[in-house]
Amino acid sequence: MQIQPGAIDEAVAQRFGAQVEWLIALAGFKSTRGNEGPCQEWLAAEFAARGWAVDKFTIDIDSISHLPGFSPVVDADYTKAVQLVATHDVAEPAGKSLILQGHIDVVPTGAPELWARDPFTPTVIDGFLHGRGTADMKAGVSAMVFALDALRSLGAVPASRIHIESVSEEECTGNGALSTLARGYRADAAFIPESMGHRLIRAELGSIWFRLRILGRPGHILAGSSDGGHAILAATRYIEALAALTATINAEARSHPWFGPITNPVKFNPGKIRGGDWLGSVPSWCELECRLSVLPGHKLEDVRDRVSQAIRDCAEALDADVPTIAWIGFQADGHVFQPGTEAEALLAQIHEAVMGAPLDPFVMTATSDTRLYDLYYGIPTLCYGGHGTGLHAPSEAVDLHSLEKTTAIIARFIAGWCGLKSV
Ligand SMILES: [Zn+2]
Repeated sequence: MQIQPGAIDEAVAQRFGAQVEWLIALAGFKSTRGNEGPCQEWLAAEFAARGWAVDKFTIDIDSISHLPGFSPVVDADYTKAVQLVATHDVAEPAGKSLILQGHIDVVPTGAPELWARDPFTPTVIDGFLHGRGTADMKAGVSAMVFALDALRSLGAVPASRIHIESVSEEECTGNGALSTLARGYRADAAFIPESMGHRLIRAELGSIWFRLRILGRPGHILAGSSDGGHAILAATRYIEALAALTATINAEARSHPWFGPITNPVKFNPGKIRGGDWLGSVPSWCELECRLSVLPGHKLEDVRDRVSQAIRDCAEALDADVPTIAWIGFQADGHVFQPGTEAEALLAQIHEAVMGAPLDPFVMTATSDTRLYDLYYGIPTLCYGGHGTGLHAPSEAVDLHSLEKTTAIIARFIAGWCGLKSV
C-alpha cells in the first residue's frame, strides 16, 4: 500500500505530545552501566504491547569474545546487561528488511553541582528536553518506536521484517550491539538514530581504553621522592608522554583521506585517576585510565604497541618500573561508511524533502555502534538523527522540533525501504 508522505508527517505530529511524554518516562530511568535492567524491562513491555515478538537476553561473553569487534569486559556484571530485540515479521516480504537500533545506556552524570536540575527528571525548557540520555540517545529510540506507531495509526505496518533493537554497552564496549549480531539478527540495512544534527556519519574514529597501574617507591615523606618513585607524580608524566604521542599521531593524520581536513582529530582523554592511601606517605600506587582515538585504517594492535612503547620510554626516563597496562574497554576500529549505498540514497532523498536542504555527510571524531553492523557484518548502516546539545555534559538536551522531523524521516524511510502493507 502507498501512503502520502504528508500523511505520515501528519500522523507523527498528532502523536508527538505522546512521544515526548514517552521519552520523558524513558529518560527518567537511570540506565548507567550495570543499571540498564529496569529501563529495558519497561521497553520490553512497550514493545510487546505493540504486538512485536520480544527477545530479551543478557550478553554471553563466551559467545562474542572470539568475534571481531569484541572489547574486553572489566568491572562489569554482564548477568545484568539486558539487550532487547523486538521483531515485526512478515511471511511474504514485499520490501527489504531493516534493523532500527538505539542504545539506552547513558554515561555517568559527573559532579552534581554542575547540573541545574536532576539529571533523571527530564524537563522541557524552550523546546528542548533536558536530562541525561535525552540526546544520547533515548530521543532516537523514541523516534524508532513512534515512527512505527505513526504508520500503524494510518493502518500500515512494514511489508518486510524489521528488528527494533535496544542495546546497552554502546558507551564503553559495543558488546551489546555485537551480541545481537552474534545471536543472528541481520537485515538488508541498519539505521541508528543518534543525535547527529541531521547529518549522516560518513566516517568515525575508533578508540582504545586502557588502565595503567603505576607503582612508586613508597616511604615516609621526609625521605622525599623523585617523580618516578612517587606514583601520583609519575602519573602526570605518563599523561604528558601520551599527550605527546597523540600530537605525533595527529601530525600524521594531516594526510589521512577522511580525517586530514580536521585539526587534531585524535583525542587523548585521561579520564579517571585514583591512587595513594595516606597523606604522610609517598604514594605507592596510582591507577590511570585513558581513552585514545584510532583512525580508520590504523590497526588496533599497532596503536596499542605505540601506547606501550610510549609508556616504556617514559618509565625509563623516570627510572621507574614499567607500569602494567590493561586494555579495559573499547578496542574499537575506526571505519568509513562507503558512499553510494541504496539506503543512503533513500535517506538523502527523504532528508532533502523534509529538511529542504541536501544531506550533509560528516566525519565524526568519536565512536558509535555503527561500525559493528557495517564493518564486521557487511550490513549497510546509517547513523543519522536530529539535533542534540551537551552530549555527555550536564547541559545535555534534545531539540524537540528536530526530534519530530527525525521521527517523520524514519517513518518515511521505513515506508520506502520495507514497503507498507495493511495492518
Ligand atoms: Zn550514543
